[in-house]
Amino acid sequence: MARIIDGARIRDEIKEELKPRIARLSAAKRPPGLAVVLVGNNTASEVYVRTKVKTCVELGMCSEKLTPPDSITTEELLAIVEQLNAREDVDGILVQLPLPPQVDSKLILTAIAPEKDVDGFHPYNVGCLVANIPAPRACTPAGIIQILKRSQIPIAGCRAVVVGRSDIVGKPTAFLLLHEHATVTICHSRTTDLPGVCREADILVAAMGRPALINADYIKPGAAVIDVGMNYLSTREEVARIFRNSTERLGVLEKRGSVLVGDVDPFDVAEKSAAYTPVPGGVGPLTIAMLMVNTVESAERRLGVC
Ligand code: NDP
Repeated sequence: MARIIDGARIRDEIKEELKPRIARLSAAKRPPGLAVVLVGNNTASEVYVRTKVKTCVELGMCSEKLTPPDSITTEELLAIVEQLNAREDVDGILVQLPLPPQVDSKLILTAIAPEKDVDGFHPYNVGCLVANIPAPRACTPAGIIQILKRSQIPIAGCRAVVVGRSDIVGKPTAFLLLHEHATVTICHSRTTDLPGVCREADILVAAMGRPALINADYIKPGAAVIDVGMNYLSTREEVARIFRNSTERLGVLEKRGSVLVGDVDPFDVAEKSAAYTPVPGGVGPLTIAMLMVNTVESAERRLGVC
C-alpha cells in the first residue's frame, strides 16, 4: 500500500521553523512585511489572498492588502508596484493573478523589484533559477522539493518526469529537480507516448490541469507521484466515473456544487505508487508556506539579519 504524503504536516513543520527566524528579525529590526495586491473581485483570488494574509498574521509577520478596482489601468497598477518597491517596510510584493484583461500582466510582474519578488516570477529570478543562483524560487515548485526531501524520497540520480511546462509550475519544477541531480524529462500536450515516458519516472510530477488523466498506465510500480493538479468537477457523470460511484463524493457534489480532484487517478496511484501526494492536502498547503519562506528570506537579506 502506498504511503500518503501529508502536505499539511510538512507545511506546519516549515511554519514552525520560520517562527524563531521571524522573532529574531522582529527583535533586531522589525517583522518581515508582505504586501498583497488583489485587483477586482475574483472570488477564488480573494480566498487565496485571505489565506496568505491570515498565515502572515499567525506567524507574527506584517501584511498589507491593497485592493484596487477591476477598472485599474496598467499605468495605475505600475504606480502602486513602484510605491511598494520603494517602501522600506515591505520585503515581499505579490500581485495576485489573474489580472483584468486591460492590464499588461507581464509588464506588472517585471516591474516588481526582483529582491521583493516573493512569487519568483520576475525574469531576473527565473534566470537565477536556471543558473542555480540563490534567489526567490516559485512557491509551488519549491514546495514540491520540500515534500520530496522531507519525505525522504531520494532525488539525485533518479528519473524524474514533469508533465506540464508552464512558467509557474512545470518549468521551475523541472529546473529544481535538475539542480537536485535528477535526470529530468519535461512533457506537454504534444508529447508522444505520454504513458510510456511517465512509466520511466521514479518521480512523476503531474501539473496539467487535466482531471485524473494519470492512471495506472502512466505509473511505474513503486514511483513517487506528486499531484499538483487542482480540477473542480461539476457534473455527476465525471464525479461518478473518476470516483467510481462513491456515494460520499456524489454527496459532496450535491452539497457544494463541485468536487476537487488532481491530475492523478486517486485509486490507481494508491495501488501502484510507493508514495503520493493526495488532492487536497498534498502540494496545495506548501505553496503558501513557501511564500512565507521567501518573504522571511527577503527580510533577512534586506535587513542583514541571519
Ligand atoms: P497551465 O495551463 O499553465 O499549464 C498546463 C500544462 O500542462 C501545459 O504545459 C500543457 O501543455 C500541459 N498539458 C495540458 N494537457 C495535457 C495533456 N493532455 N497531456 C500532456 N500535457 C498536457 O497550468 P499550470 O501549470 O498553471 O497549472 C497546472 C495545474 O496545477 C492546474 O490544475 C492548477 O490548478 C494546478 N496548480 C496548483 C497549485 C497548488 O498550489 N497546488 C499551484 C499552481 C497550479 P502545453 O504547454 O503543450 O499546452
